[in-house]
Amino acid sequence: MNKTKLWLVAFLTVSSLLAAQPKPPQKIALRCGALIDTKSSRTIPNAVIVLEGDRIVAAGAGVAAPEGARTVDLSRKTCLPGLIDNHTHVLLNGDITATDYDEQLLKESIPLRAIRATANVRTALMNGFTTMRDLETEGAMYADVDIKTAIEHGYIPGPRMFVATRALAPTGMYPLLGYSWELKVPEGVQTVDGADNIRRAVREQIKYGADWIKYYSDRRYYVNDKGALRSMVNFTPEEAKAIVDEAHRLGHKVAAHAIGRDGIQAALDAGVDTIEHGDGLDEELIDTMVKRGVYWCPTIYVGVYVAEGRAAAGAPVWKTMMDLEAKAFALAVKKGLKISYGTDAGGFAWSEAQARDFTYMVKYGQTPMQAIQSATTVAAELLGMQDKIGAVEAGKFADIVAVDSDPLRDISVLEHMKFVMKSGVIYRNE
Ligand SMILES: [Zn+2]
Repeated sequence: MNKTKLWLVAFLTVSSLLAAQPKPPQKIALRCGALIDTKSSRTIPNAVIVLEGDRIVAAGAGVAAPEGARTVDLSRKTCLPGLIDNHTHVLLNGDITATDYDEQLLKESIPLRAIRATANVRTALMNGFTTMRDLETEGAMYADVDIKTAIEHGYIPGPRMFVATRALAPTGMYPLLGYSWELKVPEGVQTVDGADNIRRAVREQIKYGADWIKYYSDRRYYVNDKGALRSMVNFTPEEAKAIVDEAHRLGHKVAAHAIGRDGIQAALDAGVDTIEHGDGLDEELIDTMVKRGVYWCPTIYVGVYVAEGRAAAGAPVWKTMMDLEAKAFALAVKKGLKISYGTDAGGFAWSEAQARDFTYMVKYGQTPMQAIQSATTVAAELLGMQDKIGAVEAGKFADIVAVDSDPLRDISVLEHMKFVMKSGVIYRNE
C-alpha cells in the first residue's frame, strides 16, 4: 500500500468512527387536543406526548414539554396510537374475480409487483397504519421480505411489517386453476403435499424471512339447509398439524384462512393462532377460540367489496356470507372473543379506505373504543408486540396518528387521517 492510500484508509476510518458517534436523540412534544388512551379506555383532554428519538418518554394531561423540545401543535386534533392492520396483501391490487387475480400473476413480473407494493405500503402508512401483518404474497415469492427490508433500511416509507411469505395449500386447491395442463402457470401459494414436504416448506419459508406461517384451511363455501356456512377442508388433519407443529417448534405463529365451519374447525384442531375471515363462526367455534385464546381477523369490508362482483360471476354465496359474518361478529363481541383489526387490503384496491372496516365493526356490535382497541391493544397482542406498540405510553415506539374530530363519536373520521408519525418520524401533518 502506498502512502496516499494509507492516508486515505486512515481518513476513512476516522470519519466512519465519527459518523458512528451516536447523536443525542431529538426531543419532540406533541400537544394533542385529546388523546385516546387505548389501555384505560378513556379520552385524555389536552394531553402532551413527549418523545425522544423513536420512543415515547411521557404522555398525559399533566406532562410538561421539556426545554428545547420541538413542539408540534395538534391542539385541534384527537391523537391515538398508530393503527395496526393484521391482514393485508401489499403485493396484490384488488381481486374481485378470478380474472383480476390471474391477470396480476400472469402479466405482472415479480419486480413490477414489488414496485407497486412500494406505493401500497406508502399508502398504508399515510392512512395511519404504522404496523401491518402481511399475509402472503400471492405468487410473488419472498418479495414481502424485500419490502419489509426496504422499509427497515429507510429506502421507502412504510409500516413496520410482519410477513408470511408464500403461504401453503395442497396441489389443486389454490389459484391459478383452470388452465390447460400443457401450460406451466404461476401458483398463488407454495403448493405442498404430505407432512414431510410440509415441514420442509415451513423451514424454507422461515429460512427466507417468514415471521408468520399462513395456510389455506378451506375452499368451496356453501350454505347448507340449516343455514350454516360449510366448506371443503384442504389439508388432511396430519398435514395441518405438521404445519402448526413445525412453525411452533421454530418459534413462529400460524394464521389460517378459514371461512366455512369445517375449515375453521379443522384449523382449530390443528392448533392455529389466528383465524382469518371466519365468516362461518358459530357459538361452539367461538367458545373454543375464547377458551384457547385464538384471535379472529374478520376482514369485513373486503367481503362487502367483492360480494356483488363474485355473485355476478356465478357465486351468490358471497352475498350470504356477508350477512352470516355480521351475525357471527355480534355473537363474538358478546362472548368476548379477541377480535383483531384485519382488512385483507390488497384483496380490495389500495385506493379504497383501509379504515372502512371500523364502520362495519361498530355497525355489527362493537363500541367505537372496542373497534379502536381491535386495531391497537388487541392487534399488538396478536403480534406479541404489546410492550412496544398499541398504546401511547412511556417506553413504547412513537407511533402516533391524529384526526380532526373525535372517532368515538364518528368512527369513520379514521378514514381521513391528518397526522402520521412512526418511530418518532413525521410522515404526514396536515
Ligand atoms: Zn387475505
